[in-house]
Amino acid sequence: MYNVGDQVSIKCKFRSNYLFSETGYDDFVIEGTVIKTPSYINYDAVTVKTNNPDLPISIVPTRTIEGFVHSPIVNNIETHEVISGANTYIVTVNSGKVSCSCVGFQFRRYCKHSDPYKT
Ligand SMILES: [Zn+2]
Repeated sequence: MYNVGDQVSIKCKFRSNYLFSETGYDDFVIEGTVIKTPSYINYDAVTVKTNNPDLPISIVPTRTIEGFVHSPIVNNIETHEVISGANTYIVTVNSGKVSCSCVGFQFRRYCKHSDPYKT
């Protein structure tokens, strides 16, 4: 699912430290570059080098991951894997033109998955 060097934006859920939290969980989004997970980590995890100076390396246990945007760039065509609920859509950006694999985009040439990638 991830390779070292990938640019990712991971949405995850951690048990909340806040006593009066309604759901018992806090949501986080971790953005950065995937690096090799240290060998002393004995659970399934993705390690991300972030641009946040307070937390430059984030080790995200796979079980806490809710969704992610995965953005490799190949031949100047960016593809973003966008997870929305149980579905995964592929958003492609080619020379500034955005398209999405979802049904909505085929009809309307517009959808919520592709909107954030419009320039
Ligand atoms: Zn879409």
